[in-house]
Amino acid sequence: MPENSASAADRLHAVLTTLRASMADQISTAPSVREEHSHGEAMTAARLPEAVIFAESTQDVSTVLSACHAHRVPVVAFGAGTSIEGHVVPPEHAISLDLSRMTDILAVNAEDLDCRVQAGLTRQSLNAQIRDTGLFFPVDPGGEATLGGMCATRASGTAAVRYGTMKENVLGLTVVLATGEIIRTGGRVRKSSTGYDLTSLFIGSEGTLGVITEVQLRLHGRPETLSAAVCQFENLHDAVQTVMEIIQCGIPVNRVELMDPVQMQASIQFSKLEGYRALTTLFFEFAGAPAAVQEQVSATEALAEPNNGLGFAWAESAEDRSRLWKARHDAFWAAKALAPQARVISTDCIVPISRLGTLIDGVYQDIKASGLRAPLLGHVGDGNFHTLIITEDTPEGHAQAWELDKKIVARALALEGSCSGEHGVGMGKLDFLETEHGAGALSVMRALKNTMDPHHILNPGKLLPAGPAYTG
Ligand SMILES: Cc1cc2nc3c(=O)[nH]c(=O)nc-3n(C[C@H](O)[C@H](O)[C@H](O)COP(=O)(O)OP(=O)(O)OC[C@H]3O[C@@H](n4cnc5c(N)ncnc54)[C@H](O)[C@@H]3O)c2cc1C
Repeated sequence: MPENSASAADRLHAVLTTLRASMADQISTAPSVREEHSHGEAMTAARLPEAVIFAESTQDVSTVLSACHAHRVPVVAFGAGTSIEGHVVPPEHAISLDLSRMTDILAVNAEDLDCRVQAGLTRQSLNAQIRDTGLFFPVDPGGEATLGGMCATRASGTAAVRYGTMKENVLGLTVVLATGEIIRTGGRVRKSSTGYDLTSLFIGSEGTLGVITEVQLRLHGRPETLSAAVCQFENLHDAVQTVMEIIQCGIPVNRVELMDPVQMQASIQFSKLEGYRALTTLFFEFAGAPAAVQEQVSATEALAEPNNGLGFAWAESAEDRSRLWKARHDAFWAAKALAPQARVISTDCIVPISRLGTLIDGVYQDIKASGLRAPLLGHVGDGNFHTLIITEDTPEGHAQAWELDKKIVARALALEGSCSGEHGVGMGKLDFLETEHGAGALSVMRALKNTMDPHHILNPGKLLPAGPAYTG
């Protein structure tokens, strides 16, 4: 943090005094509220912010940031706190800026399939409110995340194989810069070849370049027919081979998710999934007009059979389908329920799909050598998977889990992958960025950070490892 002669505590005091004049009832220093904003999910790191400020408008965010900029006080944007790499853990003497009261839908342009929302709205709430339009927003991370947080982590989920990630589904943003200046990026059109792509710059920037207050989203028509099925395999390689062939053949599956036998056992118990065995399992969803769905189903069955698929079990009713996908979304909690006193640390890596089998083989060797239990599941259609490492909730237990995580990431990077397909960097993945991106690209990122946030007040210590001209 650049120099300022006052102590960090005095600077923070000055900011809170300034802000209390206009937004006293939006500022909380209650211990329980500070605790809620001291950590995200899964990762062990935590620190209390000195105060939590609940923004209710873009102007509020601007007021807070301009005060923090003037007094060099760090500020961490907070959506729902479901991120899992320590993204929202504040540095010392920091403010947590909570966007969760900004939940308005500002416009729905059904005829153009887009809408504009405030950043604190959750995707579940958006979809419930626009149901009557016949449209929906498809990006579905497992947690009840905000759309601003999803932009900031470049989130994806089970539907990315068909609809893409936040990167492909955001048309524009309103962003408050570190100085408090408000800008708009992008617009409503599907494409534009003008200027630098600032929307993409903020997508995935983890609150380090600006605070997003409004999001222009692409919407999609609800498919006429949805069909879901489960196919089990005795051998994980056969399941991965099936997925690879489905993607290579261009079958437009809506979702294809994998659970290994350990995860399946956990989910059978937790989600009361009856009629399934603890085997490697693929969860499929097909969508479209009835004839198109039938075609996709037949093509998928034809690929699974020679790969020793044990047959398709269909979820016929809407209730059965939603039970199946709820079980998939609850996989983290199912793993946690295996050992309620333990800590569950989620890994996240991605490789080109043809290398998925090789990576998973190596990961199984690492899990075995570690002696830890680590269910594996993933958005395999994208080459992306997680292991949910179950470890003792002690410093030694955490260290053992991070050791395993490091080995998994090293394997993914060696196979031309990425250390995170969707969870982001936060603090947990900082050590891998230089290997993944190279020193040259990192120095461009540091230059951007220095230009856009010269006093390093925006979520310092996240996304970008300290290095030349950037101290974190
Ligand atoms: C059970 C479970 C399952 C999950 N599954 C998935 C999954 O399938 N796919 C996936 O991608 N993720 C998944 N996640 C991770 C998490 O849900 C996503 O990272 C999500 O996008 C975080 O949104 P949030 O609103 O909780 O953001 P937060 O956790 O509050 O914040 C995340 C980051 O974004 C910044 N931020 C938040 N709001 C803003 C804003 N308005 N402007 C600028 N910066 C902001 C924060 O400073 C922080 O750096 C899962 C998490 C859990 C607990």
